[in-house]
Amino acid sequence: MLDADTLLLVQVSFTLLTTLLLTVAALLAGRQPEQRAWALGNVVASVGLCLGAMEGAPDIVHAVLGYGLVGLGLGLVLQGLMRYAGQTLATRWLIAIGALSLLLPALFLYLWPSLHGRLIATGILFGLLNLAGAVVLLHGVRDSTRPVMWVSAIGFALLGAALLLRAGFLAWRLASPEAAYDASLTASLILFAIPLAQVTIAFGLIMLMARRYAEALRQLSLTDPLTGVCNRAGLERRGARLLRRALQAGRPVALLMLDADHFKRINDSHGHPTGDAVLRQLAEELSDTLRPSDLLARYGGEEFVVLLDDSGLAGATLVAERLRLQVAATPANHLALSIAYTVSIGVASSEQHGHDLALLSSKADQALYQAKQQGRDRVVEAL
Ligand code: GH3
Ligand code: MG
Ligand code: MG
Repeated sequence: MLDADTLLLVQVSFTLLTTLLLTVAALLAGRQPEQRAWALGNVVASVGLCLGAMEGAPDIVHAVLGYGLVGLGLGLVLQGLMRYAGQTLATRWLIAIGALSLLLPALFLYLWPSLHGRLIATGILFGLLNLAGAVVLLHGVRDSTRPVMWVSAIGFALLGAALLLRAGFLAWRLASPEAAYDASLTASLILFAIPLAQVTIAFGLIMLMARRYAEALRQLSLTDPLTGVCNRAGLERRGARLLRRALQAGRPVALLMLDADHFKRINDSHGHPTGDAVLRQLAEELSDTLRPSDLLARYGGEEFVVLLDDSGLAGATLVAERLRLQVAATPANHLALSIAYTVSIGVASSEQHGHDLALLSSKADQALYQAKQQGRDRVVEAL
């Protein structure tokens, strides 16, 4: 079995390596506060661990400051985890964790001098901090990164458990120094688990951020930046899903193609920024009026598509008529301007044209063209 000094060297090396890994990841990730907190926490804890390993240094440095920095580093990591989970760890709690990590070893150094006492007390504190990290991840991460969250949660739980076991083991040795049981194997296994857990945590945290980035990029690629509703790609992705589910369940789906009338005039008279504001308000008005099961997308320029789930031609025409009247009655406001405008809408339903997004769009577009031909501000059905 490896001796304690070798294992300590392994632990320090792994801590430095995982710190380097997290620091590089944080630098590459740009302005990500969680990742910076994890990297900074690891740097602080590593410095603490190195100070703690410097046996020749004065007690106040290696036995007090070292532990204080490890505790503060773990607190910073916990703060980053809470932030990732949408929670906050107030700075006063962070300071309290750092202060407690200084105070405990100081007590066992000056008040009740005991190496075992010092190791047990700090082991319990650091173990609990790591377990708290696991709990934060398990309870707080509810988004699409939850499946990836398990890697770091298991790492934190393993590290917390290893530190608590080590403290328990030391306490047991302290209580029964004459015990015949040779415990070096247990001690080595516990020490071996610590770097293993550190690597698991570092990889898990980097995987979490990578997954969150990928998800944010996906959302961005499906969202229209001006209005925040689905863009054309989003319509194709989510619309296909809506149509597939409706077909399986035997529900009709209707598609409205909506276009602002004489929109060019709004731009020409009031400027492009005002045109943008009108488009944003139109999108907001439409999404406020629709059901959560419906899908609103900006199809292009001043043209929107609405997919109405469980809706036949007659029902969809009623909805379209309601939308048209509402838009006509609600002028858009921008700066001191109040801009009245109207929309034309083409309606097509799967009852006539099947559950096919491309066909429904083209039929509704033809109906919209007719609405424009007939004088605008009206709804036309694609029969
Ligand atoms: P019609 O009633 O026939 O639809 O007339 P229109 O003027 O609305 O139609 P046209 O297709 O001639 O012009 C559409 C205008 O919409 C022209 C374009 O500058 C404007 N537009 C498209 N996208 C945007 C946008 O993102 N912001 C702003 N402000 N205007 C836009
Ligand atoms: Mg138009
Ligand atoms: Mg248009």
